[in-house]
Order: sequence, then C-alpha cells, then structure tokens
Amino acid sequence: MVEPCPTAVKSGRYSAPTPRSTSSTPVKHDSHAPVLHIGVPNPIFEGDLNVYVIAGDPLTLIDTGIGTPEALESLEAGLAAHGLALADVRQLLLTHKHADHIGLAADIRERSGATVYVHEDDWPGVGDLDRRHGEYLPLVHERLKRCRVPQEEVDKLAKFLGHGKRFARQTEAQPIKDGDRFEISGQTLEVIHTPGHTQGSVSFLYGNHLFTGDHVLPTISPNIGAGELRRTGMMQRYLDALERIARYQTDELVALPGHGPKFSNLAERCATLARHHHEREEKILGVLAESAEPMTIYQIAQVLWSKLPGFHIMLGISEVLSHLEKSATDGRVTEDDGYFRLA
Ligand SMILES: [Zn+2]
Ligand SMILES: [Zn+2]
Repeated sequence: MVEPCPTAVKSGRYSAPTPRSTSSTPVKHDSHAPVLHIGVPNPIFEGDLNVYVIAGDPLTLIDTGIGTPEALESLEAGLAAHGLALADVRQLLLTHKHADHIGLAADIRERSGATVYVHEDDWPGVGDLDRRHGEYLPLVHERLKRCRVPQEEVDKLAKFLGHGKRFARQTEAQPIKDGDRFEISGQTLEVIHTPGHTQGSVSFLYGNHLFTGDHVLPTISPNIGAGELRRTGMMQRYLDALERIARYQTDELVALPGHGPKFSNLAERCATLARHHHEREEKILGVLAESAEPMTIYQIAQVLWSKLPGFHIMLGISEVLSHLEKSATDGRVTEDDGYFRLA
C-alpha cells in the first residue's frame, strides 16, 4: 500500500518530476560546515527527492529518499562522491513523515547507528509506522465517504492502494519540537515548526540555509489535507506557517526544498503560495454560488478538475475539504450532512 507524499492538483495534473542530479554538488558554505546536495530518484508523485548533507561534526543528513534499492544506491553514490559513507552519518533530521523523505531512515540507522529525529506530531509515522500503516486504509475510506465519493471510484482507489508497495520501514526515532537546537561544527541548527502539509512538518535553519522540506517548494504547491486524515484545520495552519517562515527571508538566505531547485526568493514564493490558496478558496465559493443545490466535496472537486485518476482523487478531495473547513470556520459556508452551501 502506498502512502505517498502528495502535492497539490494543478489543472487536474501533477507537475512533471524535476530533473535528477546524477551527482551530488556543493550548495554553498561559509562560516559553517559545508552543505551538500544529493538528488535521489523517486518513482512516486512529486519526483526526485533532495537529500542534504551537513558535512560537519556530527555528520548530519536531512531527509533520506524513498525506501527503494535504487534510492539507497544513489544516496550511497552521492555520499561516496564526497568521500563519505552511510556509516559516517551521526544524525538524521527528517522534515516530515512522508515516505519519500523517511524511506531510508531504517537502513541509515542500521548501517550507521545514527540518531533519527522527527517532529513529535509526525513521530508516529516513523517510530510507530507499522501500526499507523494498518490504520491508513480505513482512514482513507472514511475520508472518501465524508466527501461523498461514489462507490465505483472508491473501489478503483481501493484496488490501487491495495496493490501498492510499502516505501518506508518503521525505525526508532527521537521526537523534536519547535525551537529545538542542534550544534553542528559550532553553528546552531534550529527547528522551526511549519505545519500544514503534515502536522509535524518542520523547516531547519542552519546559518543562511533554510531547509524547507515540502512546506515551501519552488515550482509546485504542496498538497494540504491528504497528509493528515485525523486532523482538521490544516489549511489555516499552513497559511499561518507560510507567513511565519516568510519572515526568515534575508538577502543571504538560501532555501533548500525537498523537491526542485534551491531558491532565494522565499518571501515572494510564500506570498505566491498563499495567493494560490486564496484564489482556490474563492473559486470553490464561486462554484457553490453558481449551484442551485448544495454540493458535496466530490462534486466540487469534479468541477475544479474534471479528471482525478488514481490517488489524485484523494489529493483533490482532501484539498477541497481543507478549504471548506477554513471557509466554514470563517463563516462563509455551512454544511449539512456532507452537503455544502454558501452561508
Ligand atoms: Zn510530503
Ligand atoms: Zn515530498
């Protein structure tokens, strides 16, 4: 079964994978330890995953790549290009619980004895993954039902998920929280809680490097809603966290995302993402305004994206759901048994 790292639906399609780096390349370094980049192939959804290495003391990895032999091979090759090996890794910091970010955590820990860290809210998705994995499919069914997805679509998705492969193994991990600090080669790395994409999503600030995970991506809008099947209110939390992280913009800042190229226009990118969500919300309210009858989330998603194949249906309905939760909280829509209308 796949629990992928979902991104937003754009015009009913997903962005093409970003080109893979065939070798690791230094990102930048000055007064702190060098930060290296390794592109790791990712067969599902958003495309290749960026692993970052803080080549200092202790040797630190940020995210891992998905749990496949190909990903492991390319991570090892990337490290070897810098004269490093998995066994040298002392600590592994995870930006969030999705399989493409944590998939090799168990392998890395087994080979190196490294300590694995993940935000306390995403910890169950790493340290208690076996149990969580068993609960995933029933939660998906609950979500589909909540959004009034027709049975034939539910059956199709169940078949898809049932045939999926597992891309991460449970591993021992230490929970971290906002404001926690790590010392690496005399420079502080700070944990910044940036919930939304998942509840336990974090960014890490190390010198002028900001590791943004999937919170802020340079070319696509991260999915909000599908990453948390037990929680509500993720859209507002995401928008608040965008505003918060945008304040870390400086002239020297280099943002290092989980997918896609590094960027320096953090505040501008955050504003673009916030605007995208604002426009999406207005579009959803516009769909409701034009409808004579109250609408289900599935019906709204169909108007926004005529086709939502495979897992995309979960991403689409979850994003609409998270928008409607926000609109309901803001007093702009009301719900009656799964049917929404303007307030
Ligand atoms: Zn993700
Ligand atoms: Zn991701």
